[in-house]
Amino acid sequence: MPRPVSYNIKVKPLDNDISMAEMPDGHMGEGFFATSFNKVIGLARKNSIWPLPFATSCCGIEFMATMGSHYDLGRFGAERVGFSPRQCDLLMVMGTIAKKMGPIVKQVYLQMAEPRWVIAVGACASSGGIFDTYSVLQGIDQIVPVDVYVPGCAPRPEAILDGFMRIQDLVGKENLRRRNSERYKQLLESYGIQ
Ligand code: SF4
Repeated sequence: MPRPVSYNIKVKPLDNDISMAEMPDGHMGEGFFATSFNKVIGLARKNSIWPLPFATSCCGIEFMATMGSHYDLGRFGAERVGFSPRQCDLLMVMGTIAKKMGPIVKQVYLQMAEPRWVIAVGACASSGGIFDTYSVLQGIDQIVPVDVYVPGCAPRPEAILDGFMRIQDLVGKENLRRRNSERYKQLLESYGIQ
């Protein structure tokens, strides 16, 4: 006797409180909408960020809370957390980075494909925090360029979300030619990156 199987075939209506990705500026008429390639790519990128969490201590626990159901980073299109630098485009450094660990952070950054962005989450990643000692790196911007700093020890999940939304803003507005510009090359060269 086969087991009865029931399927949920009721289509859930879209609630009004589900927010959709905002429409970029452009020109609209009957049957057409025109905008720039920059804006379309920016819109796609900012709503599909793949973070790579590099968590070494307490700030990493705040990140876990940020990924949990209450705060839910997935609402921003970033639930696909990856641990392979090749596929990720946002390096999130959370926690104390010892000087011995510095080259590893840099190696992970180098393995990420362009375009890539970096958030320093918390006081330790941003400036060494309370650990003004011989062994702790006084900020990851000594080894890789940082786009957004999230203050706090530890920052609450709201602060991490705020930092993430600032990254989204940068990603959405970034000019597609920025990574080929002389200025960007000089920035990388100042970190010894070709
Ligand atoms: S900033 Fe504070 S909470 Fe975050 S890793 Fe450093 S000591 Fe821990």
